[in-house]
Amino acid sequence: MKVLLLEHPRSYGEDRCNDIANAPLSACLNTGYIGGMLASKNIDVTIVDGYLEKLDYPQIEAEIARIRPTILGIHLVYHWENNQTLYQFIKHVKAAYSISYVTVYGFYPTFAYEEILNRCPAIDSALLGENELTFLRLVENFPNQELQGIAYRKDGGITASRGEIMMDVDSLPFPLRSKGSYSFGEVNLAGSRGCYGGCTFCYINPYYGEAIRKWRGRSPENIAAEIDAIMKETEIRYFYFVDPNFFGPGNAGKDRVLKLAALLKERNITFGIEARVNDIEEQAISALVDAGLRHILIGLESGRDESLKRLNKLTSVSDNEKALRILRKYGIEPSVGFIMFEPDSTIEDLKINYDFLKRNDLLEKLEISVNVLYHHMIILQGSASYKALQDQGRLNISDHSTYEADTDYQNPKVATMAGMMRDMTNHIFAYMKDTWELSFKKDPATLSQYDLVNRLLVYSFAGLLNEFESGEMTAENRDIYVRSFNQSVDLIMS
Ligand code: SF4
Repeated sequence: MKVLLLEHPRSYGEDRCNDIANAPLSACLNTGYIGGMLASKNIDVTIVDGYLEKLDYPQIEAEIARIRPTILGIHLVYHWENNQTLYQFIKHVKAAYSISYVTVYGFYPTFAYEEILNRCPAIDSALLGENELTFLRLVENFPNQELQGIAYRKDGGITASRGEIMMDVDSLPFPLRSKGSYSFGEVNLAGSRGCYGGCTFCYINPYYGEAIRKWRGRSPENIAAEIDAIMKETEIRYFYFVDPNFFGPGNAGKDRVLKLAALLKERNITFGIEARVNDIEEQAISALVDAGLRHILIGLESGRDESLKRLNKLTSVSDNEKALRILRKYGIEPSVGFIMFEPDSTIEDLKINYDFLKRNDLLEKLEISVNVLYHHMIILQGSASYKALQDQGRLNISDHSTYEADTDYQNPKVATMAGMMRDMTNHIFAYMKDTWELSFKKDPATLSQYDLVNRLLVYSFAGLLNEFESGEMTAENRDIYVRSFNQSVDLIMS
């Protein structure tokens, strides 16, 4: 039996370019891990990476025609619309190449499997939650699909259960990597699964199993062995840990990181990680930087303790500031997650957030300001906030999918300002899309344009706060303001 695993092409509309996290980064190794599991059992499996290898649908069809799989597995990613192009493609290739069975997996199917099975009759099932063992059992028991971890149609309805949680993550075979995995100058690695936190906007734990809410780390030796295997395959020496939370909890978590740092240092590589601010401590960061740490993403999320509490971040503003201080002391300027506009924000919250960003030098670069001065809270199915807002009758589900929702801001001034910032930052993003490469190469003319736009953006944000507070800015003149701001950006960038 042949299995083909597909990463489908992704497309994002211009108005959604600033909306992140429709699939957490950790999902990027979903297909690789399933592939690794099947290959370890000598099952004939091929990965076609339409995303990283930039294949279009005719090119993917040619691969399907060549391989002729019995089972087609698709890592289904929501991309802010209803995926009809992909569904039509699945229907077409299933019939044209006599594919016996199509299954989908990933975050989106785990939470929105009913909608997907209803929209696309050509999809036979969805694998829910962790999926390596489920996929293996599906192949071994084929064509019986009545197995744990699968949502499938039965007796006019849908029967569903969650996949078995992989507690011993060292026992997982290493991911199977297609050439797309090596196409962007770095190699993704997963050193752990789950998170010991519980932020309201996040669905990492609901995906990995709410009942156990447990971070599960691979041993440093197991990670080092995978890196050694990759280094034999490629010249790339930059690794990115896609773990939602690189650090495990407590002293055991810290000891593991120190041990891992020692092993990474021996390999003479560089790497990036994502972490909670409360785990940023001198001893660990100094060891990791010494071992090659160059990039880190930390979730600051807010500059106000009350907001952090609402988000159940379990951190404080002083934790945020301490983390920034330590990272900068060791030469790391972090990427930051920040939610400027959350559903219950007040103008006072926005002011405190702005002051926090300003005093911590987080508004110096356009690449950062354009994100932190706009990001709103994305509400996706599976998260605690989705459920809480639904229970309160405040959830507005998207026309595209039950997976995506928003809510009306409690405060009308915040609602107007959020809408304005969205229009203004999207206008800037449209320019950055075309000039990103130049700014990355530090082209002086582009850097100077970015600097001017950044100053305009930061100045405008501060001005808007004052105007909303004093009542000068109203919903009626918001369009005039946005138009004038965007024209100024056009002038600078032309
Ligand atoms: S720290 Fe919060 S946002 Fe990050 S993975 Fe954990 S629960 Fe999710």
